[in-house]
Amino acid sequence: VSLPPARQVSPDLSVSFEFFPPKTAEMEASLWSAFQRLVPLEPKFVSVTYGAGGSTRDRTHQIVGRIRRESNVEPAAHLTCVGASRASLEEVIHAYQTIDVRHIVALRGDPVDGVGGTYAPHPQGFQTTADLVAAIRRAGDFEVSVAAYPEKHPESRDFDADIDVLKAKVDAGATRAITQFFFDNAHFYRYRDRLQKRGVEIPVIPGILPVTKFAQAARFAGQCGAEIPDWFAAHFDGLDEDPDTRRLVAASVVADQVLDLTANGVTDFHFYTLNRAELVYATCHMLGVRPATKEAA
Ligand code: FAD
Repeated sequence: VSLPPARQVSPDLSVSFEFFPPKTAEMEASLWSAFQRLVPLEPKFVSVTYGAGGSTRDRTHQIVGRIRRESNVEPAAHLTCVGASRASLEEVIHAYQTIDVRHIVALRGDPVDGVGGTYAPHPQGFQTTADLVAAIRRAGDFEVSVAAYPEKHPESRDFDADIDVLKAKVDAGATRAITQFFFDNAHFYRYRDRLQKRGVEIPVIPGILPVTKFAQAARFAGQCGAEIPDWFAAHFDGLDEDPDTRRLVAASVVADQVLDLTANGVTDFHFYTLNRAELVYATCHMLGVRPATKEAA
């Protein structure tokens, strides 16, 4: 029996990982253990989210600072406009400069009354995310990433309006966009074509959410307007009480997703880790992204 060769992947792939600031000591241990497991894969950067309405301002800063001090990995700090004056955001930006953090993921944030509410800028705040991007670039030598939406943002009237907002962020100095997660790659490919037609030239990195808990993913998807394709739901159907099988299915689903993306020219991936390494590590392995040495692993 001759087996087909393993799928070829490009040697030039790069990955980045997103973590969130944990609430408890136990969750914090899980964050650092995931971080340690993933660092040998030499991510381009790792990012740390900013809790809704700026609720994790200090914790985000602490975690990003620790990554800067204790590792060789480039940290990126998320920062949102919602509920904050310009002065307080400039203070946060300055604080990152002081600890030599040079990459900020600039975001608007969700309305204070939650996803689906009505967003209003803070009276003394930035009117748009593009204004925040510009302020960060003015403040010093920062790399600025922003968010992008292959299925368009739920508040966008249409794709053109959505891409106008992304273009404004690029014009203000954003150098990379990271997408909201999606499960059907067709959305990403269509979006990439739309961006190309509109002359958006910065790298747009797919955000990959490996799913082990289907119900949780369906909730996230409902909030951010990401489609759950029928085939995707069918894969997880009947596995609510069977975590072992669910994990195996999850690994297969996400591997198929990223391998299809590489087959369609994608070379950079941003993983929403949810502070867990196992599935992300396995997916990177499938991509051919491995620790440089056995010792590092
Ligand atoms: P923007 O790019 O400013 O706008 C997004 C959409 O809002 C636009 O496409 C448009 O539809 C609408 N819009 C904005 N301005 C206007 C206008 N003037 N007129 C009409 N429509 C307008 N949230 C957090 O709280 N913390 C995080 O750490 C965080 N990290 C994220 C990371 C990534 C990669 C992504 C994709 C999202 C993240 N979010 C985070 C969620 C994000 O804050 C929400 O999706 C928010 O609703 C939009 O933020 P944005 O920066 O994309 O906004």
